[in-house]
Formats: sequence, C-alpha cells, structure tokens
Amino acid sequence: MLLITSTRFDEHVTPPGHPERSERAHVFDAVAAQWLKKGGRTAAPRSATRDELARVHDPGYIDLMAATSGHPTRLDEDTFTSPESWEIALLAAGAAAQAAEYALDHREAAFALVRPPGHHAERDRAMGFCLFNNVAVAAAVALARGVERVAIVDIDVHHGNGTQAMFYDEPRVLYASTHQYPFYPGTGAADEVGDGPGSGFTVNAPLEAGATGADYDRVYRRAIVPILDRFSPQLLLVSAGFDAHEHDPLASMRMTAAGYANIVRQIVEVAARHGALALVTEGGYELPALAACLEASFATIDEVPGSKVPGPPASDAVGTGTVRGERALAAVRAAQAPFWRGI
Ligand SMILES: [Zn+2]
Repeated sequence: MLLITSTRFDEHVTPPGHPERSERAHVFDAVAAQWLKKGGRTAAPRSATRDELARVHDPGYIDLMAATSGHPTRLDEDTFTSPESWEIALLAAGAAAQAAEYALDHREAAFALVRPPGHHAERDRAMGFCLFNNVAVAAAVALARGVERVAIVDIDVHHGNGTQAMFYDEPRVLYASTHQYPFYPGTGAADEVGDGPGSGFTVNAPLEAGATGADYDRVYRRAIVPILDRFSPQLLLVSAGFDAHEHDPLASMRMTAAGYANIVRQIVEVAARHGALALVTEGGYELPALAACLEASFATIDEVPGSKVPGPPASDAVGTGTVRGERALAAVRAAQAPFWRGI
C-alpha cells in the first residue's frame, strides 16, 4: 500500500473550537511517520486540475472557491476557508485522484490522508466541512480513463449526500453507505436507491445511534459485500471516515478500531476479488481514535511486520450485535431486493 499525504494539510485553518481542525493533519503526519519507520512507502500529492474538478462540480462553484484564495470566508454554517484553503482543497482532491490512478496502474492499494474532507460537498456548494468532493473527483478520473464499474463505499458515520447526488443516475458508479440515521445531513434513507439508469446503484444502510461493530459487521457481511461482489467493481474507492468510533464527539455509534478493521478487511477482500483499491479520509474528530483507526486500517490492508491491530479483541467486532444491525439489514434488503435478487 502507498500512503499519499502532505504536511501541508494543516494549512486549511478553521475557527477555534471547530472539530475539523488542523491538528487532524498532525495525526496524518504521525501515522505516516510510523508507516515509513516500518518500511512503508509514501508519496506527495498533486493538485487536482480544473478539468478534473469540473467533471463533478459546477464551473461557477469552482470560480467561487478560487475567489476565496487569500482571505478567510464562511461558506455555510459550519464550513469555512482560510487564505490557503483553495490550494489545500486542490491538493486533497488531487491526492484522491492520484490514489485512484496509482491503484489502477499498480494493482496495489493507495490511501490518501487528506483534509478538508469531501463527501458532503455537492456540485455547486460547500457543506459540512467539505469544499471539493475528493472521492467523487477520484471516481470521475477513473470513469474518464474508461473504467466501467467504480464502487464507492462510505464508512463515515455521516451519509455522503454529495457523493450520492453526483452519481444518483449513474450506473457505472455504485455508492454504498453505512451511517447513523436519522442524523446529519438528513439523507441516506434505505429507499434512496438511485434514479433512472442508476436505480439500484445507490445502497443505503441507515443504522440507529448506538450501533456496534457487530451491527456493522452484519450489514457488511450480509448485504453490502454481496452487492459489491455482484457489481464486481474494477475500482473500489473508500470514503474512510472514522467518526463512528465510540469516542468521537460528533456522533453516537459504538465502533472501535477493531470494528473498523473488521469492515475494512471485508472491503479489502472484495477489492482483491475484483479490482483495485483506493481509500481517502473523510471524518474522524477524536484524535487518538483517528490515529488508532488509521493504524488498524493500514495493518489490515497491508500486513506490515510488527503492526498490531489495536483496540478490543476482534470478537468485539463480530457476533450477533443488537437490534440496530437487524433493522438496518432488513431495511437495506427490502429496498435493494428489486435490483439485487437474493440479497
Ligand atoms: Zn462524518
């Protein structure tokens, strides 16, 4: 696995007390340093080009973002830019695109450690800490290269409304999300399944607050993984948000680093059966939990000698779970049955 990251990701500065803060980039620096020490490889990101952004964002929105360069602005109630944000947002989207390109070219996983996150950003507006939709830019880069089936699996605790909307009627991109629901941003009900030729290529598994690693395990093992296997993605992208961790201040799930490692393992196995794998960070606001989840994911994706999967024993991440997993599984099965027979 190649890590793509830059020490510059702390230059996108948010107001004091904001959860999506520069210190998150220092976690990326620390885990990347550990990765290097263990013999892993890293690469510096490139900036996304205007053409790449324009495949998923409106030209007018790109101009608006460019105009924020050099001075601080507020784009929505919780989304801010600082003088360097435009440049750093280009780097975040470029890193995601680069991860997809690397994975396709080398048949080896790539993980882009970036901020600001991306999955709430829509075609024409910033939202929920997100400026450009990094994972969507990466998916569009793959489509432009002729890739016919791209899956985006969104493990962030929030629903990726922006990503879903961008590919809602696009059968070449399957978007699958597990998220706390009802919750911010309000989208992600199980019956949001895509539109027109994209029907059945949006898969939402809404989980109630308090869901555990075992609940997530159940939904991935019995619904998301079988659907992904049937779709057979040539490129599997992961919106790697770690804010479902039990210590995260924004959400109310009971995931652990071991729980995340368990679902990342299932996703890695899907990619190994069908194609290439690239991951890009999204949320994760408790810094030690973010570091633990990243390290557990790295160890899962690419067995590095001496790496340990931290957190409680793996038995914590499997088993029967609670009624939350059962309900989410029933909802996603009912909604997807017309498109994925036998799921
Ligand atoms: Zn999130």
